Amino acid sequence: MDNLFLKPKSKFVKVKCENCGNQQIVFQSSATVVKCLKCNAVLVEPTGGKAKINGSIVKVLD
Ligand SMILES: [Zn+2]
Repeated sequence: MDNLFLKPKSKFVKVKCENCGNQQIVFQSSATVVKCLKCNAVLVEPTGGKAKINGSIVKVLD
């Protein structure tokens, strides 16, 4: 049995860009690359499952 369809609840998180300090709300399980709106650094990289967050998570939103 795989649990592909039983993914944990996806969340939005506020991420701080390590490059410029910009804070931006991103989808934690994003299927696309999310870039910083200010400096264009990659903040979220899709990995096929839970996305990889490249900044620091400031806040988790429900
Ligand atoms: Zn930035």
